Amino acid sequence: MRKPFIAGNWKMNTRTEEAESLVRAMLPELNNIEGVEKVLCPPFISLAAVQGLIKGTSIKLGAQNVYFEDKGAYTGEISPLMLKDLCDFVILGHSERRQYFAETDEQINKKIKKTLESGLKPILCVGESPEEQEADKTEQKISKQVNSGLAGISPNSQMVIAYEPIWAIGTGKAATGKQANATISLIRDILTKLWNKETAKTVRILYGGSVTSSNIGEFIGEADIDGALVGGASLKADEFVSIVRQTLHLKSTQ
Ligand code: PEP
Repeated sequence: MRKPFIAGNWKMNTRTEEAESLVRAMLPELNNIEGVEKVLCPPFISLAAVQGLIKGTSIKLGAQNVYFEDKGAYTGEISPLMLKDLCDFVILGHSERRQYFAETDEQINKKIKKTLESGLKPILCVGESPEEQEADKTEQKISKQVNSGLAGISPNSQMVIAYEPIWAIGTGKAATGKQANATISLIRDILTKLWNKETAKTVRILYGGSVTSSNIGEFIGEADIDGALVGGASLKADEFVSIVRQTLHLKSTQ
């Protein structure tokens, strides 16, 4: 059984003070929802403060990026070694990093390797652009991103994958549940070929792109979708709590 998984990607939002208020606002309710893995991914600068607040609770922490070396002359970068006492998860290959920071599949592959080596769990993001979707190239793009991102990595059930079509991120135009489920089941097929069927069945695969408390049900109702990577709506405590609560309810009645 795959435990449902909801992660909040706060992106470059919240000063530490704001991050603390947001955690305080969601903590009591969120902590009481068992049966869903709940992960908060604040900016690097707030990780330690958030860690302090969630210590001893059922909530886990994730970072939004990492570099692929342990230490050295890499000004401005953060290594997995620095994160491993703070976090459990690291978002890697988010489309904003691919787009604005020119991250390549090869760099993402190195980051995944280092992340796993250090004991952290990667959340690998993949997704097609609007142009690729229109040209019917979704399958091709996803296949390339998954195969290159996971090249040379042995079967690993700790990996989490997020399917995030770029046209749905921050646009308010979410995919439909059926669309997302079709691509996510394709990702499971890719994992079966790359690794094996047993592992492919155990890897959690999320949908991301304009998820809110109003549409989460559409995704969670689909068999292959194990949860969501939530951007904008994770910055509102009541929205995020509602998304987690509905996920528990819908998955436990499936
Ligand atoms: C994201 O950034 O991963 C994301 C899915 O954003 P949003 O929910 O705001 O579309």
